[in-house]
Amino acid sequence: MRFDEAYSGKVFIKSRPTHEDAKAIIFGMPMDWTVSFRPGSRFGPNRIREASIGLEEYSPYLDRHLEDVSYFDAGDIPLPFGNPARSIAMIREYADQIIEKGKFPLGLGGEHLVTWPLIEAIYQKYPDLAVIHIDAHADLRVDYEGEPLSHSTPIRKACEKIGAENVYSFGIRSGDRDEFRYAEESGLYMAKFEVAKPLKEILPKLAGRPVYVTIDIDVLDPAFAPGTGTAEAGGISSREMLEAIHAIAQSDVHVVGADLVEVAPNYDPTEQTVIAASKFVREILLGWVK
Ligand code: MN
Ligand code: MN
Repeated sequence: MRFDEAYSGKVFIKSRPTHEDAKAIIFGMPMDWTVSFRPGSRFGPNRIREASIGLEEYSPYLDRHLEDVSYFDAGDIPLPFGNPARSIAMIREYADQIIEKGKFPLGLGGEHLVTWPLIEAIYQKYPDLAVIHIDAHADLRVDYEGEPLSHSTPIRKACEKIGAENVYSFGIRSGDRDEFRYAEESGLYMAKFEVAKPLKEILPKLAGRPVYVTIDIDVLDPAFAPGTGTAEAGGISSREMLEAIHAIAQSDVHVVGADLVEVAPNYDPTEQTVIAASKFVREILLGWVK
């Protein structure tokens, strides 16, 4: 599937009618085939789009309006249900097209495994890539119950591909002992429990570098984002997440792509998870797409 095909389904507010002049391409990856606990993130992308209808188009944080940034919501990649290997190959091929055209990929998950082919695609273009990973979970497993294609493995795969010393994790408060041991021994930077404060300390060190940012919605406390598959008590507020997005926007890093994953809306009848996620997407568009 191509990102530049005509698409008439649900879109994020203010999506441009065509991809041609768009700087950023929004696309959904409705996949939750490998989750270890509660499925449902395949419904994330469209529910984030629906929630975006309730957003203001102006950001008082950044003093920018969605009219100021050109982006095209290309819809969801039609991933083959139950087939993670083929899904990953399709995401990779899709991301390659976006990157080839010099556009900013902004992916909506879906489970966190979708980040792996996106990082691979971006790394091909930017060999000095750094990854900022914001999540409750380390996602550093080699495999889950013997399965390497799992939503608990994408950051380990990223470390092995781009070098653990180029991966910066924030907000981590869950993982097995081996994951934390690997974090200590591999050279990966890991800030446990907190996001905004350590991120502000690290950003100057990444100035000028191409950076891919992956946000797992479960970094938020379940009080702010109960709509996720693997909710984890003790997380950050939606306000701190916004602070982190704005810190990246105001830094000198060169954000070259991003994703927001693990939104599983059916566990949240209040819809506050998708409402928060849609606001994060707005601020990412306004702050990171330059
Ligand atoms: Mn994750
Ligand atoms: Mn997580």
